Amino acid sequence: MSRVISWIPTAAGSDFDLDNLPLGIFSPPAEAPRPGIAIGDYVADLSSLFEAELIDEATLDGARVLNGFLARGRAHWSALRTRLQYLFGEASTLQERVLVESSLVPRAEATMHLPFEVGDYVDFYSSIEHASNVGRLFRPANPLGDNYRYVPLGYHGRTSTIVLDGTLISRPSGQRKARDAAAPSFGPTAALDFELELGFVAGPGNAHGAPIPIEAVRNHVYGCVILNDWSARDIQAWESVPLGPLLGKSFATSISPWVVSLEALEPFRVENRIPDPPPLAHLQTDERWAYDIDLEVLLESQAMRAHRFPPMPLARPNFRGMYWHVAQQLAHLTSNGSRVRPGDLFGSGTISGSEPEMLGCLLERTRGGTDAFELPGGERRTYLENGDTVIMRARASAGERRIGFGELRGTIVG
Ligand code: MN
Repeated sequence: MSRVISWIPTAAGSDFDLDNLPLGIFSPPAEAPRPGIAIGDYVADLSSLFEAELIDEATLDGARVLNGFLARGRAHWSALRTRLQYLFGEASTLQERVLVESSLVPRAEATMHLPFEVGDYVDFYSSIEHASNVGRLFRPANPLGDNYRYVPLGYHGRTSTIVLDGTLISRPSGQRKARDAAAPSFGPTAALDFELELGFVAGPGNAHGAPIPIEAVRNHVYGCVILNDWSARDIQAWESVPLGPLLGKSFATSISPWVVSLEALEPFRVENRIPDPPPLAHLQTDERWAYDIDLEVLLESQAMRAHRFPPMPLARPNFRGMYWHVAQQLAHLTSNGSRVRPGDLFGSGTISGSEPEMLGCLLERTRGGTDAFELPGGERRTYLENGDTVIMRARASAGERRIGFGELRGTIVG
């Protein structure tokens, strides 16, 4: 298949090539936030392209969040993408290229902001391997429970503490109870963990009382970001029975700055995992909702930085093997008539696979904090220490095609 090549330097062959075009909110040096598109090592300023009359998507002109554009729906998302692929591609005119060129800001000089305002945030539990591993630690007799294979499980998270890549994560305090202690105590968590996830971003949404059928979900999800669902395992363990996580999760959730659209991910769709037993009718679809996305999580301690050791890879799972997909999750979430609004965020839940090098959180890797592992330089870890930086990356590939999500970093401070 012949492919259009971008005339913008550094785009061709990069994670942010013409067939990616992720959206974000950025500020050029000393200027106000505005929407941009990552292309190679640059950000194209969409407000400036609007002013130059190269694009006509008014919801992006000077907007400080993407919600207005997310509300517009798939036809508008697709029209903008087609137009930008033309402008950044070989068929554009010299005059257009001059205008595009003047809209480009080096990504290294751009300050990124939260790309959309999150109204509601749900974290799901897509990976049956993760659910089984965690279940074995806490409920060895019936790790998955009777409902896992029927209901896409999740819990409502806290939107006010969703933060961007690079935000320092303060070690939270809370109630935790040691196994042999008679009573809980209050203090800093001793079991701070990450969860490697993808977060899906809602488009137009539905009216109260009007569920989104599974066949319509593609019109209601714009795209996705990398998500780190920071977790305090000791606080979580003490508070979670019987209602589920609350303060053990709500202190911070980090997302990556560039939203990769489902349209960009089209070439990387693969066959869904076959559920056993078949799900109930409203959760069944023949449409492919699995994506071949490689993810990676790495750890870098303060001592490793001082000694210039490279970050240590902790896990490399793939997203294609998830038991539940976002179409089932969104159909399920609205099946009672509940509303979804533009910018709502749906975390996949920890992405783990069946092998030891595919475990997307430390709880699984260290079996509940009992099996320590060694970092380059000899330090040992069960959970995160102050000064540790967690780095997450994601990339979809098929043959020579690939697109990247960029990076998501967070450093723990005391
Ligand atoms: Mn999670």
